[in-house]
Amino acid sequence: MSVSEASVDGVVEVTNVSGAGDFILVCEHASNFIPPEFDHLGLGSDALESHIAWDPGAYPVAVALSAKLDAPLITSRVSRLVYDCNRPPEAKSAVPAESETYEIPGNKNLSGKDRQTRIDQYYVPFHDALATVTDRRVKARRAPVIVTIHSFAPVYDGRKRDLDIGVLHDSDTRFADAFLRVAATHGKFKTIRNEPYGPQDDVMHTLTEHAIPRGLLNVMLEIRNDLITTPVDQQSMAEQLAEYATEALVSVAERLNDSSAVDGPCSKTEPIPIYSTVRRRNDLMFGSFAVGTS
Ligand SMILES: [Zn+2]
Repeated sequence: MSVSEASVDGVVEVTNVSGAGDFILVCEHASNFIPPEFDHLGLGSDALESHIAWDPGAYPVAVALSAKLDAPLITSRVSRLVYDCNRPPEAKSAVPAESETYEIPGNKNLSGKDRQTRIDQYYVPFHDALATVTDRRVKARRAPVIVTIHSFAPVYDGRKRDLDIGVLHDSDTRFADAFLRVAATHGKFKTIRNEPYGPQDDVMHTLTEHAIPRGLLNVMLEIRNDLITTPVDQQSMAEQLAEYATEALVSVAERLNDSSAVDGPCSKTEPIPIYSTVRRRNDLMFGSFAVGTS
């Protein structure tokens, strides 16, 4: 598909597509919209407004972050209950028949054809848009950092979650490590690695599909949703995350430039010019470092 300056085709929104910053942002659970043909999936308004249908607050934070970082933002405009774009087509939870304490009547006993239609209509356009934006940047030899923005409920299944921000990663820990270090230095939020979810919960699909095969730095951020309920709080959170992300990138790029620090599967192939953030911040050229492209 082609991705225009600000394209909306009904199920996926791409904003700030030509953003010149170093990041590409993704918000898979931005919306609780359920297309009318699904008749609310048989759910009441309490379920449809709850975190099972979307990540409350994540979208406005992502939009503000996109402006701060001058980053393209790829957003799903349909509820995760119709199709969860952070799950691969083969995952049961891509079209969940239950979530936390709720059953989802409209997702029960789906035929293979119904399921394939959901994949074709919601999953494919979303991931095509993200791949298009990402490949365009890689081809221009400006490796983006992929950051996905989520929110989590303060209490889940009756259990209180004792953290402010979760910093999630799969096999490539480079950017997450740096982000955690920066956040700890600032000391404002209780920031924890791979909480309240981790790779064992199969929540890394976007990162493992788009970032890791291309050797791109990446992280998934989970923000406790009671910290981002008002526009003021959302803006403030975006400003903090932009600062942390920028500092983390400077730190990672400095390490990557030291060839002794480059190891692992994500650092092999052709060189890509250093991130513009680092040039701006340090007014230095570190040369280039290697980023995998396949
Ligand atoms: Zn989420």
